[in-house]
Amino acid sequence: MPFKEIKGQDAALEIISANQEAGRLEGGYLFVGPGSVGKKMAAKVLSQSLNCVLDNNDACGVCPSCIKIEKNQHPDVHIIPQEAGEDINPVRNHSATINGYGVSNGIKIEEVRQLQKEINLKAYEGRFKVFIIDNAHKLTPEASNCLLKVLEEPPKRSLIILITDKPGILFKTILSRCKVIKFKAQDREGLKEALKENYGLDPGFSHFLAYFCEGRIGEALRLKELGILKTKNNIIDKLLIPASFSLEGLGIEDRQSFFLSLNILNTWFRDLFLLKTGIIDAEVINSDRKNDLLKSMSSFSYSDLERILNAISNTVFYLERNINTRLLLHNLKAQIWER
Ligand SMILES: [Zn+2]
Repeated sequence: MPFKEIKGQDAALEIISANQEAGRLEGGYLFVGPGSVGKKMAAKVLSQSLNCVLDNNDACGVCPSCIKIEKNQHPDVHIIPQEAGEDINPVRNHSATINGYGVSNGIKIEEVRQLQKEINLKAYEGRFKVFIIDNAHKLTPEASNCLLKVLEEPPKRSLIILITDKPGILFKTILSRCKVIKFKAQDREGLKEALKENYGLDPGFSHFLAYFCEGRIGEALRLKELGILKTKNNIIDKLLIPASFSLEGLGIEDRQSFFLSLNILNTWFRDLFLLKTGIIDAEVINSDRKNDLLKSMSSFSYSDLERILNAISNTVFYLERNINTRLLLHNLKAQIWER
């Protein structure tokens, strides 16, 4: 896709485009900013623009090169760690079995050694070799030192893009070798408009996603794919009939689903709190359930809502520390209904 289709990152993209037009896009770049705001998307579009057959400092999105990069099948564009199941490139698949691309915990030295080897080879079919290192803060110390050597003398027509939301954990020597491009969360109204215009979502769903994800487009699209609307409405339906509020349907069998359910609960009680204080409607996340919110308002006092919101925060705290989920939910349920 062309750069202009990446919304809400104008400042970052302007710097990237200016560097590209000046022919200065080589060596190491660090894309830094909150999770799921479009850093990886920008890195992929940049890889496309460097290899697009139109060669006009942008990505057409439809040429064979752009399509291969989109599908993670271009032999000159590498994502580390490799994304599971997406790479069918025979050259790299061979490497994967030998050198351990795709390791999820920590980016190991073997992966950077493979990068070191490949970056010095001639491009197979593109003009630029690009290596995108996602979650670069997960580089082990050995891998960081190996990468530092590459960054000290990067070959011509090669680019290494490190991506992180935790720059404080990166080795300072790595940081000092990279040009830093800052990304930020999009404003929520901007994301809401983008979800309506670019992804065809209805206004209510766009509003919920934009506010629930706090402007992080990657997270919004991920949750859309997961069917968040149905999940959240199921949970809210259960909340409206206290007798039906049960363990089932909150996804407690897996922690990620349980976290998501807790977040949904949190937005509901937060909305009730905001409505009781007479806050402007735009801040209400579940505006598509406004009537139900208004009906529920009288069932909870301010102190009830404060206690429930604290109980949800505590549940998240203990869940992160691997406390038994059934026990946590039992306690939470008591806080919500047994007053
Ligand atoms: Zn293209």
